[in-house]
Amino acid sequence: MALNDFRPMEERCSNCLGCKWIPFDKVKSQRYGENCPSISWGNFNTYSARGRFELGLALLTKDADLSPATTDIIHACTSCGSCDVACKVSRYNLEPLDHNIELKAYAIEQGKLLPGQAEIIDSLKKEKTMIRGAKKAARSAWAEGLGLKDLTKEKADVLFFPGCKSSYDEKYTKNARASVRILKKAGVDLGYLGAADLCCAGRALQMGFKDAFESSAKANIRAIEASGAKIIVTPCSDCYHAFKRQYPKLGLKVEVLHVVEYLDRLIEEGKLAFTKKVPIRVTYHDPCHLGRLGEPFVAWEGKEKKIFNQIHTWEPRRPRYNGAYGIYDAPRSVINSIPGVELVEMERIREYSWCCGAGSACNETNPEFSSGTAAERVTEANSTGAGALVTACPWCESNFRGAKDENGRTIEVLDIVELVEMAL
Ligand code: SF4
Ligand code: SF4
Repeated sequence: MALNDFRPMEERCSNCLGCKWIPFDKVKSQRYGENCPSISWGNFNTYSARGRFELGLALLTKDADLSPATTDIIHACTSCGSCDVACKVSRYNLEPLDHNIELKAYAIEQGKLLPGQAEIIDSLKKEKTMIRGAKKAARSAWAEGLGLKDLTKEKADVLFFPGCKSSYDEKYTKNARASVRILKKAGVDLGYLGAADLCCAGRALQMGFKDAFESSAKANIRAIEASGAKIIVTPCSDCYHAFKRQYPKLGLKVEVLHVVEYLDRLIEEGKLAFTKKVPIRVTYHDPCHLGRLGEPFVAWEGKEKKIFNQIHTWEPRRPRYNGAYGIYDAPRSVINSIPGVELVEMERIREYSWCCGAGSACNETNPEFSSGTAAERVTEANSTGAGALVTACPWCESNFRGAKDENGRTIEVLDIVELVEMAL
């Protein structure tokens, strides 16, 4: 789709402003009632999904242009999807998140990028990763000594896809390595793509680089199909969303699991048993792309139609991605099954979770916005009295590490696989 295809949606948005808040019946306090990191940071309507619809329309009608200010606003969006979930409480015929991304693509087409974005995409094209400065030749170093099968040379049922952050960043290779150790301990027949392992490019799509995403996705689909694996498992929520929601549009057919779903399954089947107590009180952060954006793709073909020449609808009924069926229960079930661990919840959870701030590569291209978003979540986590903030995505983990809450306090941050391994 192009921006012009969204014009009917831009005109249909009713300015109800529901996209700025957690749905009202879910708000537990005024302090944690906001849902959109962008407007919370920019404090001006154009930062919200509503404002983005208005801006898109104004760009199409030439009532606005891509000035430095509007360009900055367009890209100051983590693509967290919180506005999308809030809008769909009452609206069936708007797609705020798709529009936000299309607006970014429109700006990119006109050469209106943020500093750093071109370099990130250049790295994706040349080195097959969006981690700037990383080299393709070093991608497999994280797997050394784990005894993982190379699925370009032999077969396994399950393909482990580490994602770029857990492949290259020395602070986060621990997540990939712990995931592999645990899965192997449970007897899973596991391999990875070796030299054919590339970036999923999900973050390129979040940033609006649709062509770069599609060419990377097609190369990955060829490699995944050639491996013969029946299941893909990843510890990264961005990879998960890319495989679960986006790749099927391009033909991917294998089962996709986040590692936490697989662990939950293995615990349930009695293939993983805990032997140690971990006496800790934790709170769990739902990563946006595992939670509200983790719903599976549903194929649909149909037409838009109007009832009484007024009400927009689709025939047959369209799938409605409102976040309700994201991955929320598996991580909570895994945490609750670990002896000694006490889970205390934050106010904004499940599909109403506050974003970590790292989405759309904002952690690199707009660090002030990104770290402010992380600080807000650390404040909320500390308000629970938890001793650690647990998540299931290396991007969330890295953004929370060192972030200070409104009282200047940090919090210990753990990936869920680390917590699991402590108890084995
Ligand atoms: S995707 Fe997230 S950051 Fe972007 S406008 Fe929506 S709620 Fe705000
Ligand atoms: S985008 Fe949706 S929630 Fe936001 S103002 Fe428009 S109709 Fe309301």
